[in-house]
Amino acid sequence: MTEPSTAARAPRRSKPATDPRPGLSGLPDGALEAWVAAQGQSPYRAGQIRDGVWRQNIVAAEELGTLPAGLRGSLDRAFRVDTIAADEVTVSDKGLTEKTLHLLSDGGLIESVLMHYPARGRREDGRPEHRERHTLCISSQAGCAVGCPFCATGELGLGRDLETAEILDQVRHAARRLAPGGAHLTNVVFMGMGEPLLNLDRVLEAVAALSDPHRFGLGARHVVVSTSGVVPGIRRLTELNPQFTLAISLHAARDPLRDVLVPLNRRWPVAEVVAAARACARTTGRRVSYEYVMISGVNDTDVDADALAGLLRGDLAHVNLIPMNPVAHTPWQASSPQRVAQFAARLQQGGVGATVRRNRGQDAGAACGQLAADRAGEPPAPTVAHRRAVIVRQSEMALRGDRSAERLPADLEAAVAGWAGNR
Ligand code: SF4
Repeated sequence: MTEPSTAARAPRRSKPATDPRPGLSGLPDGALEAWVAAQGQSPYRAGQIRDGVWRQNIVAAEELGTLPAGLRGSLDRAFRVDTIAADEVTVSDKGLTEKTLHLLSDGGLIESVLMHYPARGRREDGRPEHRERHTLCISSQAGCAVGCPFCATGELGLGRDLETAEILDQVRHAARRLAPGGAHLTNVVFMGMGEPLLNLDRVLEAVAALSDPHRFGLGARHVVVSTSGVVPGIRRLTELNPQFTLAISLHAARDPLRDVLVPLNRRWPVAEVVAAARACARTTGRRVSYEYVMISGVNDTDVDADALAGLLRGDLAHVNLIPMNPVAHTPWQASSPQRVAQFAARLQQGGVGATVRRNRGQDAGAACGQLAADRAGEPPAPTVAHRRAVIVRQSEMALRGDRSAERLPADLEAAVAGWAGNR
């Protein structure tokens, strides 16, 4: 979006982390062994360090009591054992949701959300839950260039891509918090701040570390990578035949409306996104999840449900309906529970499976990026009013069926240029 509110609040495009030492958890395969050998140490020392990183989730070299003091000092001088300088944890939903604001070494802020699902509870689709689950939603970028107007992160603009270690250290921090209770992370979803496929190399490195039995050891099938529709990125993933779940943040099945709700649609429209996701499902044999934020009077009509069913009918696909979280800069509200249920039923009648997801952390700034946006401070009231007016005008146009003539925001144009030029 190009409204002044975004410009006013966007953090300066930050440099890579100011500490030049690489993050230890993000080292590629074999790099740790090479470093240990260069120190003149026995190869088993690499195993001890790796255990410390991935089993004990250490945040400082001094926690590695199995290493000689000299090697601990060398390790500390060569690497950042932890790339996240500090955490601020907000607990809500009677302890079932922990939202964490992580401070990066360059002062950037990112969020992760840890959600607990007790074994005796019910799943969101109503089925009984027999196994305790702990799902972590992580960020892939500080801020986001896509600028979806219902999203607090979109309001911040893009800070920078996260390093591989900064992605993985969110996971290690959550695992460290779970450990005293004997619990483990069961699922990791890339649905936090940022567009994962615009930082794809690092996201793929992170997924490789998560699913490597010698590192985090979480099966790839327990990982979800989402995208708002970076079509060349989906195609590249398809070539890799990934075993994780692909999730498409769709939010509208009609181009005029999706141009407004997900501005990236102006580059890669609905039909191209769904065709790429369909090809991915055919290659992997794995069902694609379609995320759909429900906004009252905007994308929750019967016409929208029918358009969505028509788009996905016959595909290996499932729709997750998520009531919108309130966000300061948008005039929109969440669809009512009754409307969400009617929309789900209409999709199912149309031959497309759908689940209504519950919003987590409503009492703790549930919207993605909300805590970081709160830290950035409220923009001036006239800026918010202007932004709201623009959103109303754009959505009214879209609901009449007129497509937006607006170009991609400059940040987003720059971010997609590489993809568009290369593929
Ligand atoms: S919804 Fe996702 S893609 Fe859209 S602005 Fe927010 S973080 Fe970015």
